[in-house]
Amino acid sequence: MSEELIQGFLTAIPLPAVLVDQSERLIASNPDAHTFLGQQIVGRHFATILRQPLMLDAIEGCLRDRKPRETKHLSNDGAQDTTYEVHCRYVPTIGAVMAGAVLITFQDVTQVEQAGQMRRDFVANVSHELRTPLTALMGFIETLRGPARDDAAARDRFLSIMEGEAGRMNRLVGDLLSLSRVEGDERVRPRDTVDVTAQLRSTLKSIQPVAEDAGVELHLSAPDEPAHVTGDPDQLRQVFTNLIENAIKYGNAGGVVDVVLTVSERDPALRAAALRVQVIDKGAGIDPVHLPRLTERFYRADSHRSREMGGTGLGLAIVKHIVNRHRGRLRVESDLGQGAVFTVILPM
Ligand code: ADP
Repeated sequence: MSEELIQGFLTAIPLPAVLVDQSERLIASNPDAHTFLGQQIVGRHFATILRQPLMLDAIEGCLRDRKPRETKHLSNDGAQDTTYEVHCRYVPTIGAVMAGAVLITFQDVTQVEQAGQMRRDFVANVSHELRTPLTALMGFIETLRGPARDDAAARDRFLSIMEGEAGRMNRLVGDLLSLSRVEGDERVRPRDTVDVTAQLRSTLKSIQPVAEDAGVELHLSAPDEPAHVTGDPDQLRQVFTNLIENAIKYGNAGGVVDVVLTVSERDPALRAAALRVQVIDKGAGIDPVHLPRLTERFYRADSHRSREMGGTGLGLAIVKHIVNRHRGRLRVESDLGQGAVFTVILPM
């Protein structure tokens, strides 16, 4: 096969690809390979270009016994790591003295690897979050069967702690189910018409008892007329509930939570007609270092306080997905000691 023909085949392969012959030099490469291996690579020994031991073993092995090999290649362009799945396949009767060559192709699997890692982290997190209350429950069951068997006062106390732990597990399972539902339909646009003013009034009414228990006053500022968006009423209610409950939980020191609805013909964030719902508390606030990660599943700015307040660490992840589904934006502004402002911007 002529050099031109070989080069033509390599260029047509929709993946980075190089050919190494029995002289152990690169005899051809395609433009996709140049983007991460460099320009002047043809003619050089493969070990000067692909230095990773697993790669060297795979190429040498394939040149020796002509059997296919698969391996991984990690590359870093200074900004980010990329993981390639590498396939080595023997091509007969080309290269030096027509003794055959190894075709090496690189498939970028970074996203697949990242998704796999996220799934493993998620399973580990869920197991950990469930195990903590479960361990407490098992400990109390043992105590109730043994030393506290005939102690009525201890029994009552332990049962109420157990109720709390079972409630924590129940909330976690509920939030996990919500999250999976919300993630599942994120691509499907909601179709109902929702009056956000009415929705906020009724949400505040149902949260009122929680606010009273925490000694927090809830204030709503909204136009008198209805403010309509195309949305999913249950999901929007969940967004407002999660944000207001967080403001009560973490901002209770401030004593007051303001919910402000404004409507704009041309919102600067969406460059279109939109409404903004702001949930403002005057509590301890959040260190800005945490802000970029706050909507990640199980991310907590203050784990101790979150657990103490019975938080699952999933509330803002759910909010983020619902807002995305509505093609809206979520903004968080806060600083330590300055309270927090969570803003939901929804297209109208
Ligand atoms: P959680 O169940 O822990 O409340 P969320 O996803 O709702 O989980 O919130 C994530 C974290 O963000 C919380 O653990 C808390 O540290 C922080 N947070 C959320 N809202 C506020 C707020 N209004 N003030 C201060 N911190 C907040």
